[in-house]
Amino acid sequence: MVQTLSTIRQLLAARGLRPKHRLGQNFLHDAHHLDRIVQAAELTGPALPPSSGQADPANSAAPRDTHPRVLEIGPGTGVLSERLLEAGAELIAVEVDGDLIPILEERLAPWADRLRLIQADILRNKNQLEPSIAAMLNEAPFRLVANLPYQVASPLLVSLARDFPTCILGVAMVQDEVARRLTAQAGEDEYGPLSLMVQAWFRVERVAELSPDCFWPRPEVRSAVVKLMRLDRPRCSDAAQFESMVRLLFQSRRKQIGGILRRHGLKTVELDPTLRPEELTLEQIDGLAMGRN
Ligand code: SAM
Repeated sequence: MVQTLSTIRQLLAARGLRPKHRLGQNFLHDAHHLDRIVQAAELTGPALPPSSGQADPANSAAPRDTHPRVLEIGPGTGVLSERLLEAGAELIAVEVDGDLIPILEERLAPWADRLRLIQADILRNKNQLEPSIAAMLNEAPFRLVANLPYQVASPLLVSLARDFPTCILGVAMVQDEVARRLTAQAGEDEYGPLSLMVQAWFRVERVAELSPDCFWPRPEVRSAVVKLMRLDRPRCSDAAQFESMVRLLFQSRRKQIGGILRRHGLKTVELDPTLRPEELTLEQIDGLAMGRN
């Protein structure tokens, strides 16, 4: 049975629990948006249109995988997990809050043969994926589908983009401000390291916006759903060099690149040295990283 707001409240109250703010526990109870998230994950239809030019290793071999692998971070009470399992997913669900594990075990029992429920913090040292889960994710293509806790969203998405070519698609609920950074282009206020470190490997689209009323408890900020589609080929030449150039430039996003590079013994070969980091496209930054610009 689908979880409504009153189901979620009852599930917690029956165990004497309350939502934990420090774990970003804002439970999504809006059925329409839950359905849209599952739809955007393309678990049942063709995963990606052939004309999109996007790679989808899971789909390259016919016949189609009937149980696509999905990673969900922070299943909470299982409101989204239930829909994903109903849609046929083979689900890896990672929840840090041990208090929620018994609720999840009970709610998700009907699909136990397609579920790996793991109690763990998905991040080790705040920006690397927990190694045992990383090993599992490297085994086969998967999709990320999650209402992400705010503390985890940015480092997780960067790591999945850069380190996990097996992550072929992502549908993630994030704070609106994070969604704007993820989709920002050169020249826009929100453009910066997060935009570049994700767009180098994923095409990013905003697919929905949600008011705080869709969640319990009501968060202070708006949220948005973004869809991330892995590119056939990364837009950067070397991940480590690209990342160091991004970090170097965006320490001083409004200074002229000529000055920034000179201070580090580097120079611009072709680019106008009076440009500022926030004005450079991803390809121009990649060129600087590889000594081409
Ligand atoms: N999926 C549920 C929903 O949509 O209603 C809950 C989403 S809630 C925004 C975020 C969830 O992530 C919470 O269940 C929280 O306990 C969990 N969480 C927070 N930090 C985490 C971490 N580092 N690793 C794994 N889960 C985490």
